[in-house]
Amino acid sequence: MEVKNCKGCGRLYNYIGGAYRLCPECMKKLEDQFQYVKEYIEDNPRASMRQVTEDCGVSAKQIERWIREERLTFSDESPIGIACEVCGKSIKSGRFCDRCKQSMATRLEGMYGTSITIPDEEREKRAKARMRYLDM
Ligand SMILES: [Zn+2]
Ligand SMILES: [Zn+2]
Repeated sequence: MEVKNCKGCGRLYNYIGGAYRLCPECMKKLEDQFQYVKEYIEDNPRASMRQVTEDCGVSAKQIERWIREERLTFSDESPIGIACEVCGKSIKSGRFCDRCKQSMATRLEGMYGTSITIPDEEREKRAKARMRYLDM
């Protein structure tokens, strides 16, 4: 067991992992905030980042984090967007714009070729081998 200081309230708590270094109480508060923001932007799809942060009491940094985590998505009419991490184009969720995602996927394919795709026959054989193993 690991004890850490909560980044939200500073109290010591039992760290159980996760990206947020928050105690269960602060984690719950953050989750409530998230639900609030989510509903807020559904009701106010045209709200600016400033409006959202002021009305919900959540920092722009936190909102941006939720966008990167793809938990929050903004409609096309929303003025809120974040920059693609590669080319800087404004996007509504995630880390990269569609074009950069596409070019990354193509690059990956080029790197591994077709060797990573297992032919159906082979996959079936492996599945059968696994079942036999389970039968024993
Ligand atoms: Zn806390
Ligand atoms: Zn991009």
